[in-house]
Amino acid sequence: MTDTVDPETRSRIMSRVRGRDTTSEMAVRRAVHRAGFRYRLHRRDLPGRPDLVLPRYKTVVFVHGCFWHWHGCPRSRMPSSNVDYWKAKIERNVQRDKAAVEALTRSGWRVHVIWECDLDAGIENLLRTLREHQIGD
Ligand SMILES: [Zn+2]
Repeated sequence: MTDTVDPETRSRIMSRVRGRDTTSEMAVRRAVHRAGFRYRLHRRDLPGRPDLVLPRYKTVVFVHGCFWHWHGCPRSRMPSSNVDYWKAKIERNVQRDKAAVEALTRSGWRVHVIWECDLDAGIENLLRTLREHQIGD
């Protein structure tokens, strides 16, 4: 199997995939909002800049694209060209994710990772956990 697009086009496609405000992220935000939980977005002062932050619940949420964060599911398939480039890039992402989760956990945050390929279950899981920790609303 060879890549049908040149490296530049591939790079452009991939960077769009990585872009903020992806459809999955919007779906998570809508569901959380609809369930009555308030959140903040991309807090720069927190490790890894979580996609959603719920300070009351000491909970952060990452909505991860399966390719960029290497889920290991069928969606995380290496492009057949520029393999070294993508490997290095993704390895950095994975390292960064790991460091962020460790730092957040150390400072008492609950970390939720929702994978793009498992969006509905991830959202359901998140809402269930939030409700369990709902206090005095
Ligand atoms: Zn996946």
